[in-house]
Amino acid sequence: MSKTEFELTDNVMYVKGVGPRKAALLAKLNIVTKYDLLTHYPRTYENHSSLTKIVDVAAGETAVIVGRLSDIDSHEARGLTIINAFLKDDTGYIKLTWFNQKYLLTKLKPGMRLMIVGKAKFDRWADGLAVNQIQSFTILDEYEEPPLGIMPIYSSTASITQGTFRTAIKNLLASMPPLKEILPQEIIDAHDLMPLDEAAREIHFPKDLLRLDAARRRLAFDELFLIQCGLMLIKRQTQDERLGISHKKNGKLVKAALAKLPFDLTGDQKKTFRTVAQDMESKLPMRRLIQGDVGSGKTVVALLALVKTVESGYQGAFMAPTEILAGQHYEKFSALLTGLGIRVGLLSAKVTRTKKLREEIYRQIAAQELDIVIGTHALIQEGVTFARLGLVVTDEQHRFGVAQRSTLEKKSDTLPDMLVMTATPIPRTMTLTVYGDLDVSLIKELPPGRKPIKTIVKTMRSRRKVYEFVLEEILAGRQAYVVCPLIGRSESEQLADIESAEEVFDMLSRRIFRDVPCALLHGKMKPADKESIMEQFRDGATKLLVATTVIEVGVDVPNASVMVVEHAERFGLAQLHQLRGRVGRGAAKSYCILLSDSKADTAQTRLDVMETTNDGFKLAEEDLKLRGPGQFFGETQHGLDDLKIADALRDVAVLLQARDAAEKFITDDENLKYFAGLRENLALAYGDKFKQIVAN
Ligand code: ADP
Ligand code: MG
Repeated sequence: MSKTEFELTDNVMYVKGVGPRKAALLAKLNIVTKYDLLTHYPRTYENHSSLTKIVDVAAGETAVIVGRLSDIDSHEARGLTIINAFLKDDTGYIKLTWFNQKYLLTKLKPGMRLMIVGKAKFDRWADGLAVNQIQSFTILDEYEEPPLGIMPIYSSTASITQGTFRTAIKNLLASMPPLKEILPQEIIDAHDLMPLDEAAREIHFPKDLLRLDAARRRLAFDELFLIQCGLMLIKRQTQDERLGISHKKNGKLVKAALAKLPFDLTGDQKKTFRTVAQDMESKLPMRRLIQGDVGSGKTVVALLALVKTVESGYQGAFMAPTEILAGQHYEKFSALLTGLGIRVGLLSAKVTRTKKLREEIYRQIAAQELDIVIGTHALIQEGVTFARLGLVVTDEQHRFGVAQRSTLEKKSDTLPDMLVMTATPIPRTMTLTVYGDLDVSLIKELPPGRKPIKTIVKTMRSRRKVYEFVLEEILAGRQAYVVCPLIGRSESEQLADIESAEEVFDMLSRRIFRDVPCALLHGKMKPADKESIMEQFRDGATKLLVATTVIEVGVDVPNASVMVVEHAERFGLAQLHQLRGRVGRGAAKSYCILLSDSKADTAQTRLDVMETTNDGFKLAEEDLKLRGPGQFFGETQHGLDDLKIADALRDVAVLLQARDAAEKFITDDENLKYFAGLRENLALAYGDKFKQIVAN
């Protein structure tokens, strides 16, 4: 008799080889259940077909070496712990160097058998080659075969080794009964999908590249299929008899707001607002997406729509993706609208943290003492109820947020109109599929007087010159951003070549910019700290801001005219374009300098495209072409990242198939029933996020 049933909801500590101590470490990566571990998909893979003998190791080439460890030694230099050791095989010995991984001292023992994956270069002290870029290593037992083939690489922290992950997942898979199929067999057959159980296993330990491709496609299909089903259900609901709000024609208030704008609307803005106004006046609920490049003036259109709903006697809500942005919009909106007698409120983390403030603003919202409420996710928290919600605007940049969108819509007895804004330059076919429930308006024209940003790609050899140029700009009265892919040292330990924002900040603020006010900004800081740092940068007190991609979304500082992006190859083109949009907002000529030493062909080609075009849509298409679907050994694309495995930019083909399948699947009521039944079983297979989307 079996002692215990296997459940994917079991705590991960019950996986053989994990236990309470490692479970605590895994929890830091949000891995709590067996399901979380199963779906902690590899970040990338290494494909090692053969071992290299030490005598054959060549400089600059990645090699897999098996040998015995000796002469382990460590010292401190410039605050870094450097570990040196030697690895010997029957052809010779080679020096190994680990930077800043002090914890390894307790793990590495002389005499140990190790398999190392890394790159060597000439080392003066050793007077020979030294492997100083160690990507991974595995401790081998005396007679253990070195694990060759396709090896998964997981995103991890310093305290969890790749070996731990591999062993834990292997044990999990060994103890896991076959996963039940959740898709109807017709869909599996029609799209030639790998069975779920196979895919869940092969994604971690693929037998070959073809099977890896098939596994990934299957898992991506599932994710996208469910989203499509969710979108279609939403669309059905909004087309049923429940009546939407019929807003009044534009009156005095809208005209007054228009008159107060310090500029004329562009042609595209006028056209878009006209369409939005028509949608709002119609009885059917508006479900519209405004797509436009950064700075194309979407927010202004949203503001007018909000005024329109207020004029009709309703309230408006505006959901921004970050605290910083919510605050920024609040200030702009209040400045413009308070004179017109419109009451604007801000629902931020600061406000909701104290019970008294929170309850007061909730009361004002419920009593319609506020006309327009701007906020972040705080807007969809329980306790927020609008008296008469007429319009919901979400500025979701590159997030799906389908679930959140529909939560906000339920915050009132009315069925509000809905406007979604995105600056993500998603190609047209994808807009239709990712935002399948929405009508689309496009703003292509930029407001007059914008100067194109000059983009330049440079190698690290020019880094000093680049920063000297930045200094000149700052001394001439301007401000600058430096963007880094990682926050802190603990993250960069895994990636020996990458300097984190903290490290770059230390280096710059102590040297070239020691006489200039500098600040560091990243996502792990407290909201209050982030706000005050942004405030000082906005006021011009800070001249140089070293940041992670937290500044990607909407930050508006016209005096900032230069941006330097470190390790630019680690960002997607769409994301670089978003980042670049932070400069070029004022009168000064603006520059975006992309630093990269990546040798990969595609990396260079991609970055070169950034130099030649400022058109976000073109960039997205290029990105797609260059990366192509099914490319696993590149850097991960950030962006549409609510998904665990599907990549909405890369997986267009799968997305279209999933949409097609969902469309066929959801048309008849029998299937809707099946879908509802399926929903119950999805918790296990797909986790809460999808439950949310699907359960709406
Ligand atoms: P988006 O939301 O698309 O990023 P915003 O609405 O925030 O763009 O507009 C970007 C900047 O351009 C803002 O400072 C805004 O005041 C300004 N702006 C918007 N529309 C116009 C226009 N028609 N003429 C001049 N400036 C404009
Ligand atoms: Mg904006």
